[in-house]
Order: sequence, then structure tokens, then C-alpha cells
Amino acid sequence: MLTKMRNRVTSAIASRHVAGHKLSDALLICRWAESEGFRTVISPWAGALDTPRDMFSRYAAAIEAVTEKNDARYVSMKLDSINYDGGLFDDLVHLARASHAQLHIDSLGPETADAALSFVERAVTSGYYIGYTMASRWRRSLTDAERVADLGVPVRIVKGQWPDPSGRAINCRKNFTEIAATLSKRCRRIGVATHDVVLAREVLTRFVVQNANIELEQFFSLPLNGVALAKEFDRPYRLYISYGQPGIPYNIRFTLTRPRIAAWVLADFAIHARKPWAQNPT
Ligand SMILES: Cc1cc2nc3c(=O)[nH]c(=O)nc-3n(C[C@H](O)[C@H](O)[C@H](O)COP(=O)(O)OP(=O)(O)OC[C@H]3O[C@@H](n4cnc5c(N)ncnc54)[C@H](O)[C@@H]3O)c2cc1C
Repeated sequence: MLTKMRNRVTSAIASRHVAGHKLSDALLICRWAESEGFRTVISPWAGALDTPRDMFSRYAAAIEAVTEKNDARYVSMKLDSINYDGGLFDDLVHLARASHAQLHIDSLGPETADAALSFVERAVTSGYYIGYTMASRWRRSLTDAERVADLGVPVRIVKGQWPDPSGRAINCRKNFTEIAATLSKRCRRIGVATHDVVLAREVLTRFVVQNANIELEQFFSLPLNGVALAKEFDRPYRLYISYGQPGIPYNIRFTLTRPRIAAWVLADFAIHARKPWAQNPT
């Protein structure tokens, strides 16, 4: 009974964090964002019944929707949704390269980082600079940053939804800045992906001069509190737009250490704020 209720609440919250079920739902928000001068990233999220082949088709459709958009849009994928299938991955890379589309890999749990990095290397070896996401909650990311900087791929830095496997408390804000320091001189694009505007300001202040391609990325369904900051630094502002299977873009498991998350959960459940793209659909 309790589990049933908890599942119902969780899925009600999660549904706030996807644009809708279809690619067209995400594209509606893309068009609104682009009319505001923002960049976008679209990401189809897999449901339990989606097979790797289903997800291949959804990524392929997303790639088509960002084709020739250059820096304005990119597609983010999760490797577990194609079951780490090298053949499907190569086909997606091939498609992205042929379409001049930017494909990017989301970060999952720390146990998947080695596999994800080997997929990045596989793409780079084939001549395609796929994007990679680095989680600052993990100690290993400081060393991974060197490896990723050598590869020269675009990087998104996040705090990460999964804790460090050591179980020790890691200062993810300090790590975030250190990762940015390693990447800043050597990366073709750095996405500073956070709603922590104090941290974002620190990173932009320190590294905008070193890397002309730093941008601020935020999740479309969380507070868009970085728009003014990006403007102040004259840097692009990008929205991450998920669609498909509902999911929650923050970790409810951190509630004990961050009681504020309980308030976010409550607000997500109780408040039905109208979104700007829904007020003025184009
Ligand atoms: C563009 C983007 C891409 C991401 N990609 C990945 C990924 O690939 N892998 C991954 O593991 N994680 C990803 N994340 C999630 C990320 O790891 C964090 O879990 C998430 O961004 C929260 O951390 P934060 O840096 O925003 O800081 P926080 O300290 O969690 O939040 C900063 C501030 O934002 C506001 N805020 C944040 N969340 C809420 C909320 N739910 N309700 C109300 N206010 C809120 C509050 O004012 C808060 O103080 C991504 C996040 C973004 C923005």
C-alpha cells in the first residue's frame, strides 16, 4: 500500500520533468527557447519496455531534429538505454557525423564511467568528437578530466546524481571548479550544467577568459535561474529538454543530507506553475 502510494507520488513528480512523451513535445520547448535566444539539448528518456532498438530509433529521430543546427541544438543519450551495444552506438555516431549533428553522452552511475569513457574513445578514434558528461561528486573525475581533455571532446560538467562509490563525502563544488580548470584550456566546449548560481558564477568568472566556448546549461523543468548570469558574461545559455519516460533530475536519496530536497519534492508535487512555453506556444 505504502509502496504503491510512494510510486504514485514519484511518478506524478517525474512527469513534471519531461516535456511530454514525444519528440514533438520537446521541439515545442526548443522553439520557445530558441525564440528567447537560448540553445537546447534534447534527450529521449527510455521506459522499462523500450528495447535498445527502440531507443536507437528515438535517438536517430532526435539526431534528425538537430541536423544542421550546429551549436544551437544537440542530442544527449544514455548508454544503458542501448545496452552498451557497440554496433548500435557506431551506427548512431555514423548517423550523427553524416548529419553534422552533435551527439553527447549523459553521465550515469560511477560504475559505468569506464565503459562510457571507452565509448567516447571509440567515437574519437573513428573521427567523431562525441560529447561527454563529467560528475563532480566522484573523486575519479579529477583524473578522468585529464583523459577527457586529451581527447578534446565537448564536456558538460554536472554535480551528478550518484554519489562517489567510496561513500566518503566529496566536496562536489570544489571538484566542479577543479575539473573546469583542467578542461578550460583544452576543451572545444564546456557546458557548466548547474542551478547553483554561486558555483556557476565562480566557474564563469575564472574560466571565461581561458575558454571562449563555455556555456551555461540548465534543466528545463528546474528554476531557470541562470539566464541573467549567462547574459552578464555574454555566454550562451542552453536548456536540457528531456522527453519520453518521466524521471527526476535530482537525487531524492540525498534528502537526509539535504533537507531542502524534501521541499523541492513537495513543490514539484503540489505546485502547477504554468511554463512560459505553454503560455505562448509557437
Ligand atoms: C543541463 C543539465 C544536465 C544534467 N545532466 C546530468 C547527467 O548527465 N548525469 C547526472 O548524473 N546528472 C545530470 N544533471 C543533474 C545534476 O547532476 C544535479 O543533480 C542537478 O543539476 C542538481 O544539482 P545543481 O548543480 O543544480 O545544484 P543544487 O545545489 O542541487 O541546486 C542549486 C539550486 O537550484 C535550485 N534547485 C535545484 N533543483 C531544484 C528543484 N528540484 N526544485 C527547486 N529548486 C531547485 C535551488 O535553488 C538550489 O539551491 C544535469 C543537470 C543539468 C542542469
